[in-house]
Amino acid sequence: MANSLVFGVVLALWIQYVSPASFEYVNQAKWYDDYSQCSFKRQSPIELNTNESKISYDLPKLYFNNYQMLYPQKVVVENNGHTANINLPKVDVESLFGKSLLNQILPQIYGGPLHADRFIAESVHFHWGSKDTHGSEHVIDSTRHTMEMHILHRNSKYDTVEVARENPDGLAVTAVIFQAHEDNYDFSGLNSVIERLDMVENYNTTTEIESFFILDNLITGLDSDSYFTYEGSLTTPPCSESVTWVVFTDILPMSHFQMKKFHKLRDEHNTVLQNNYRSLQAKGSRVVTLRKHAVKK
Ligand SMILES: [Zn+2]
Repeated sequence: MANSLVFGVVLALWIQYVSPASFEYVNQAKWYDDYSQCSFKRQSPIELNTNESKISYDLPKLYFNNYQMLYPQKVVVENNGHTANINLPKVDVESLFGKSLLNQILPQIYGGPLHADRFIAESVHFHWGSKDTHGSEHVIDSTRHTMEMHILHRNSKYDTVEVARENPDGLAVTAVIFQAHEDNYDFSGLNSVIERLDMVENYNTTTEIESFFILDNLITGLDSDSYFTYEGSLTTPPCSESVTWVVFTDILPMSHFQMKKFHKLRDEHNTVLQNNYRSLQAKGSRVVTLRKHAVKK
């Protein structure tokens, strides 16, 4: 009896150790079994409705700073079984130039709902469906679009994403939503990523982006003046309630051909990786603000 109990505990610890980030979209209703925050009240994504939002003409613009920076190291795309993920290379600014230069060099956002803090870009990933008709996580005015790109930023007052996500003001995610159509042209801003997806169709594979990687290219042509913003969470376990969301209302066009490249990725069971978006969460008593810019007459 004692032996089997010890064995059980050891097995449980071992399972936890070898699969610390294991989760499946098909049983997302059970995420909270292992990650209690997934059932809390500040979860994402939510439905965003123009009519139910607090319209603001005063909220400052969101600024993208150093988004033109050319990363000095190679940038790698990985298939982590849940998405195509790009961890932006660590530029050791601190040892090279001292911490004071951190804010002057790295791609970052500030302004908007972010108060006085600066948020450094850390990673980029995507959520999609099984067809062009769905795939985005946030639903805007009852429409779910083809794909949603997340650029995750860490509040520079925290040293790592792991520390930042334990704090309510730790992370800011900008969400850019795409709509694919058969007759759309390619969205050239994503080409440097999409042209490498053939190399990461299988789980746990990586590839280097061959061309120069500039974050700003990913949001080419985006009208960033108008956005929804609210306080939410990571949309994957551990569902940390640490994210200030900025979801742009400008929907970018991409081609059906480009989207097909995402739809060919495979997960750790070697099945097609699709519908990697979380279901809508309750908005509860939270306020969603819709920033609009005053039209000049
Ligand atoms: Zn995401």
